Amino acid sequence: MELLEYRLYDEVEMKKAHPCFARSKRFQIVRVGADIKIMCLGCGNVMMIDRAAFNTKIKKVLAHHDKPLVP
Ligand SMILES: [Zn+2]
Repeated sequence: MELLEYRLYDEVEMKKAHPCFARSKRFQIVRVGADIKIMCLGCGNVMMIDRAAFNTKIKKVLAHHDKPLVP
C-alpha cells in the first residue's frame, strides 16, 4: 500500500469519523513521533495512535498548516 506523506500540523481526512457530536473526519496532526497525535477538528479532543495504525486510517491530506488550528 502506498503511504501518504504528511507532516506536523497537516489537516487530514480520516476514513472513519470521530465518534463525537461533530462526527468529523477532519483532524489535525499535532505531534509526530513513534506515535502520532491527532486532534479532532470537530470537538478538539486529541488522541494518540501508533504510526502504523495511523497509516492505515488516514484517507488524505487536506491542507498544510504551520501551527495548531485550535490553540
Ligand atoms: Zn471529535
